[in-house]
Amino acid sequence: MVSFKELGLVNTREMFAKAIKGGYAIPAFNFNNMEQLQAIIKAAAETKSPVILQVSKGARNYANQTLLRYMAQGAVEYAKELGWEHPQICLHLDHGDSFELCKSCVDFGFSSVMIDASSLPYEENIALTKKVVDYAHQYDVTVEAELGVLAGVEDEVSSAVSHYTKPEEVVDFATRTGCDSLAISIGTSHGAYKFTPEQCTRDPKTGRLVPPPLAFDVLDAVMEKLPGFPIVLHGSSSVPQEYVDMINKYGGKLPDAVGIPEEQLRKAAKSAVCKINIDSDSRLAFTAAVRKVFAEKPAEFDPRKYCGPARDLMTELYKHKIINVLGSDGKA
Ligand SMILES: [Zn+2]
Repeated sequence: MVSFKELGLVNTREMFAKAIKGGYAIPAFNFNNMEQLQAIIKAAAETKSPVILQVSKGARNYANQTLLRYMAQGAVEYAKELGWEHPQICLHLDHGDSFELCKSCVDFGFSSVMIDASSLPYEENIALTKKVVDYAHQYDVTVEAELGVLAGVEDEVSSAVSHYTKPEEVVDFATRTGCDSLAISIGTSHGAYKFTPEQCTRDPKTGRLVPPPLAFDVLDAVMEKLPGFPIVLHGSSSVPQEYVDMINKYGGKLPDAVGIPEEQLRKAAKSAVCKINIDSDSRLAFTAAVRKVFAEKPAEFDPRKYCGPARDLMTELYKHKIINVLGSDGKA
């Protein structure tokens, strides 16, 4: 058993309380490798933004849980080295799918876990979430739960259709589970193909797909039922067209990739939405930068020469999200 406190990490409780009060959202960025972690910490340290490092089950298998723990601990020390005196860094399990996985993360130094039992029947979702909450709270680890189903594909999580969260369920769910935050479904979606072309309209000027708007009425209804309760949005990448274009230009193939427009996320960040998950955008930035080097310098075979530019582009992306979308800069 290693407490997250020994690693210099923080849970989400204070972060979220401040974010709701201040009308901004905390970035939750997924990471799988050193370059992503460096980019996230550099962006957070330079903008003084609290940050949530997210690890999916797949990332944990990919990177190894022991290595991950020390990477997170290293991230705290790296942040201090960059001049961030009191780093507000949370290590969070994204989409935990069993009590055992959540328990293992709590025991391994995570400061926050998500139990995603949203695909189970309502009562089973409550029972499993409560079991995780009861365990995690003994160690001051915060728990995110989910009600409603997001469409899209993200590592092991996938669903063909979305079901909006039912506002009439949220009070009962939050009260009976004791969860610290709630991920809801209002039309965001996992992955780089959030909507089919049939769900979108086309901008007549650019020919680009324009996605359907988020269901802010559902968000408003949830906030009315649970005033001041931390709300989480998953699947909130914007799929920047500049990266998609770069990928396609340098030999990739991402036709009709489409995300959530940033102005909608900006609006959400000002509400009780206090955690916004962004994964696909950094995958796109990484891939775009690597493809560019490969296309322009085919003789290059030093990984630092293509992972380095990828890291720089991700740092730029993270800073943009923090400053221009979430508004969390200067809050830590
Ligand atoms: Zn998610």
